[in-house]
Amino acid sequence: MQNKSMPPTPYYQIDIANLKQNLVVVKRLCDLSGAKALLALKCFATWGVFEDMKPYLHGTTSSSLNEVRLGKEEFGEDKETHAYSVAYSTDEIDEVLTYADKIIFNSFNQLHAFKDKAQAKAVPVGLRINPKTSNSSFIIADPARPFSRLGEHDIEKIKPVIDQITGVMIHNNCENDSFEAFSESLSDIENKFGELFYQLEWVSLGGGIHFIAADYPLEMLASRLKDFSEKYGVQVYLEPGEACIHNAAKLVTTVLDTLHNGKPLAVVDASIEAHMLDLLIYRETAPLVQLNDQTSHITSEQTDNSTIIYGKSCLAGDIFGEYALDQPLKIGDKVAFGNAAGYTMVKKNWFNGVAMPAIVICDEKGELKVQKTFAYEDFKASLS
Ligand SMILES: *Cc1c(COP(=O)(O)O)cnc(C)c1O
Repeated sequence: MQNKSMPPTPYYQIDIANLKQNLVVVKRLCDLSGAKALLALKCFATWGVFEDMKPYLHGTTSSSLNEVRLGKEEFGEDKETHAYSVAYSTDEIDEVLTYADKIIFNSFNQLHAFKDKAQAKAVPVGLRINPKTSNSSFIIADPARPFSRLGEHDIEKIKPVIDQITGVMIHNNCENDSFEAFSESLSDIENKFGELFYQLEWVSLGGGIHFIAADYPLEMLASRLKDFSEKYGVQVYLEPGEACIHNAAKLVTTVLDTLHNGKPLAVVDASIEAHMLDLLIYRETAPLVQLNDQTSHITSEQTDNSTIIYGKSCLAGDIFGEYALDQPLKIGDKVAFGNAAGYTMVKKNWFNGVAMPAIVICDEKGELKVQKTFAYEDFKASLS
């Protein structure tokens, strides 16, 4: 398996074939439903593969000035660029409006402060609304958490501004793989806000719908969205992040050391905190994958003899996971962790100064191209 042409580890490997598998499903959903799909850049912003993604998507959506600029520059040609932020500053709003095809404000204050600037530039304006219900199993990622700041919820206060907006955005799903739960939640939204939708041109239903799962009833979702769109006379947008890139990358590492302390231990040349931070935040285990395969993975398992794979930062709990392996790991072995595209590359950091994984692209023929490497100068330049 150790192929001489493999780049030095650590590196993130994006597999175009896997990426396209997801995107074909996204496009099919759009074709069947009439919805438009915008890549949520906060999940995945590795722009070196945007050319491969463009044919399947209608554009991008963003959470900041930097993201909306990247969306416009690297994905924007003939595509839509949506701007959203929890809060824009007065300093950045003019520049945001030069990139945005639509701008979605998070609150009445933001709407009142900036809507005239948007209208002067003929950028359609939207408002984020919060139905106060959600499908999210993590409180940290729950837009409907108590006292949430994510969007306005009071319909009596939204009605007076309805003629200042052309659409609304609602994002209240997180890796929701149940069509029934999604549909019920949409009904709840319709009960609360439906009367407003007749006066709008578009409704964005956000991301977090795990419709790329093999057993997801895609046709049912498509007809639910189509009916919704026809009932209110609105263009539906979806903002998939994870669904676009699920299982489309892995983090490839090398075992640098092995120890034994009650159980076999291995230390690899990457770090969970620096390179797969979400797993630490959500206390999840990295799936182990074969180097030449994305799907077959060894799931985590804790036995007397299972191996704990550690990262090389000095954080005591820098653990990728614990796995029952057929053979003990040896120094020099390659180890790959799956699902390393979403909320992963966008969060990498220089903790401990650990070498930053390169970005490698595996094309549909299986050929690897090193897209980007990082060096000491990048570490140094990230501080001053
Ligand atoms: C995070 C986010 C998304 C993308 O969510 P996924 O779970 O990655 O699909 C879309 N829209 C908004 C407003 C978001 O905050």
